[in-house]
Amino acid sequence: MPIRTLVWGENVHEHINKTVAEIYPEGMHSQIAKLIGKDSNISVKTTTLQEPEHGLTDKALEETDVLVWWGHRAHGDVADEIVERVAKRVWEGMGLIVLHSGHFSKIFKRLMGSPCALNWREAGERERLWVVNPGHPIAKGLPAYFELENEEMYGEPFSVPEPLETVFVSWFQGGEVFRSGLTYRKGAGNVFYFRPGHETYPTYHDATVGLVLRNAVNWAYNPNRFPHITEAPNVPVEKALEPLEARGGSLHEAGEEGFR
Ligand code: ZN
Repeated sequence: MPIRTLVWGENVHEHINKTVAEIYPEGMHSQIAKLIGKDSNISVKTTTLQEPEHGLTDKALEETDVLVWWGHRAHGDVADEIVERVAKRVWEGMGLIVLHSGHFSKIFKRLMGSPCALNWREAGERERLWVVNPGHPIAKGLPAYFELENEEMYGEPFSVPEPLETVFVSWFQGGEVFRSGLTYRKGAGNVFYFRPGHETYPTYHDATVGLVLRNAVNWAYNPNRFPHITEAPNVPVEKALEPLEARGGSLHEAGEEGFR
């Protein structure tokens, strides 16, 4: 069975900015999906912020193995309830790939638990992405480095937690550097942050970026789900694996649920 991938697009700039509309006439989400769909091991769908429940219904998420997220201008329009729903799915084992300005999306900040802030500059400068973890599955088939002639600069410090792995480090023409490919495991879910993808440049028409995205989907995929991962059961004394007698005072009645 192919890896069921859902590309979520905010789909706002494409309708209000001429440059973005010209580069992505069918929407950024469609072009990202096109790149990912080149892998016959992946089946890809798209959805957008404008759909009911932002296209992220329980049913849609149940049918998703890996969710890919591009957002920027409308982070604040994503309902908190949907963010919690997506976070829970990630904890249960769904993969999540967060692109570019998604560093400030509610879902990424929720999962990282840190500001996720960075320095930035919109000057169309060259970005050179160095593969710093050549054995990593996300770097499979890549050269030692690759370049994007026009990109927005993101500079350190990037206030995210220390990643599980760093796959890419970017150098920018203006001199800054940035950790541009980071992996995390949140609950049972694999999370990858990939930096490039500013909407006024043709980043998602780049073949190497496409390869990274396909590698990332394959890496993030986990066929198993752990639906009990958010539960916190009170294990009765009589169900302890070894014979046990309760001692001392107790805060909770037998069988009582804990506080949240
Ligand atoms: Zn940007």
